[in-house]
Amino acid sequence: MSYIIEGKTGSWEIVVGLEVHAQIISHSKLFSGASTKFGGEPNSQVSLVDAAFPGMLPVINRECVAQAVRTGLGLNARINLQSRFDRKNYFYADLPQGYQISQFEHPIVGEGSIEIELAGGETRQIGITRLHMEQDAGKLLHDQDPTRSFVDLNRSGVALMEIVSEPDIRAPEEAGAYLRKLRQILRYLGTCDGNMDEGSMRADVNVSVRKAGEPFRTRCEIKNVNSIRFVMQAIEIEAARQVEIWENGGEVDQETRLFDPGRGETRTMRSKEDAHDYRYFPDPDLLPLVIEQEWVDGLKAALPELPDAKRARFQQQYGVPFYDAGVLVAEQSVADFFETVAKGRDGKLAVTWVTGELFSALNRTGRTIENSPVSADALGKMLDLIADGTINGKIAKDVFEDMVETGESPDAIVEKKGLKQVTDTGVIDAAVDAIMAKHADKVAEYRSGKDKLFGFFVGQVMKETKGKANPALVNDALKAKLDA
Ligand code: ADP
Ligand code: MG
Repeated sequence: MSYIIEGKTGSWEIVVGLEVHAQIISHSKLFSGASTKFGGEPNSQVSLVDAAFPGMLPVINRECVAQAVRTGLGLNARINLQSRFDRKNYFYADLPQGYQISQFEHPIVGEGSIEIELAGGETRQIGITRLHMEQDAGKLLHDQDPTRSFVDLNRSGVALMEIVSEPDIRAPEEAGAYLRKLRQILRYLGTCDGNMDEGSMRADVNVSVRKAGEPFRTRCEIKNVNSIRFVMQAIEIEAARQVEIWENGGEVDQETRLFDPGRGETRTMRSKEDAHDYRYFPDPDLLPLVIEQEWVDGLKAALPELPDAKRARFQQQYGVPFYDAGVLVAEQSVADFFETVAKGRDGKLAVTWVTGELFSALNRTGRTIENSPVSADALGKMLDLIADGTINGKIAKDVFEDMVETGESPDAIVEKKGLKQVTDTGVIDAAVDAIMAKHADKVAEYRSGKDKLFGFFVGQVMKETKGKANPALVNDALKAKLDA
């Protein structure tokens, strides 16, 4: 995919690398036993460690480490059996320790990659540089009192993963595809809920521009962007700003910027800090983190099937086309629903019903797949009724509508409404005779060569049988009688 900005001095290419902060799903914090539950009363989930009382000692949470390793495995990345925690020193009112415990030189996860899919089914690999664990900070509340600010430390010490990409992204759409894919993988793994609007996943967006074939130029980092749409917008706007600067003979300064979606601009937050500004050093309260290959292997063996593998399997096992398979695996709940419907049945028919009638019913009723008005089992039973000839495909749509409205089983609806397909050739022949008698003129036209009228007769006979006749038998009967 190419995204080119045409300037007055020629064409510019954009270069983007993303740093994603993803909150780890765990009951307790990275170095304390305090709860991580969302939405608690301010400061009700704060241990002495999180409040940084003197003399408190951090103790690593094994489950958080497991989650980081699972994520690394899901990103096809190298797992480092030895890693280390460092102190990143800075002062801010939401950080009582005066430093954040993070991993700097020795992260737990090294190089990996994510495959993204672009319009038209083209795929690309985006490199992952590293994944490390770190603590989240607290939250300042500025809107509770006219003259004072408060601090809520519930989030202080919650475990985050920072997932850093290589500067491999070349278009806003690629950044969007990367974030969607990353979120999908995290959700499948159950290591982060990926809810950007609740702040459990947020992105720092590094942007630079260059002429094709040139080395990279200076980048700017746009901090804490909290939706995929905003990330894409911020890239577009920031790249245009940089092109303008270069083309007017200026220099882009390396700095940290803020995206203001309301005004459609990015603006300076602060000049870019360097690693040495943070006075990183190994946290003396924590031993190096050493994990065993055997433990990693165990975690790997227990990983769920991930979206790429599931998609390939759906294509192969159920004959689902590439595009549809992507739609089905986008959310695990949809994939599970589909598989319950498809198992032991016609996979292509299953995918048409799930992505067609079912999705539109969900849309119409404002439901999600989790509280679908029609269960996967019920939809499967309905497909069985089509397969064994009890109902035809057209009647099936009416049955399905009825299932959406009443929640009754397909058998009950077919029984109650007398929708059973008519396969009795005596009944079908009688209907054909009646229609031919009623439209003697059309029969004459047909017999004098107007073949196209055949469809008209089929329609009439179906109507006569209230849509219940077996279409193949109707065809046979009509052919026999009209051509007689
Ligand atoms: P820091 O730790 O100072 O933020 P890193 O070297 O770790 O710097 O890079 C952070 C992010 O910036 C990475 O996602 C990387 O891909 C991206 N990046 C590095 N150089 C460039 C560049 N010239 N243009 C765009 N993004 C870049
Ligand atoms: Mg950074």
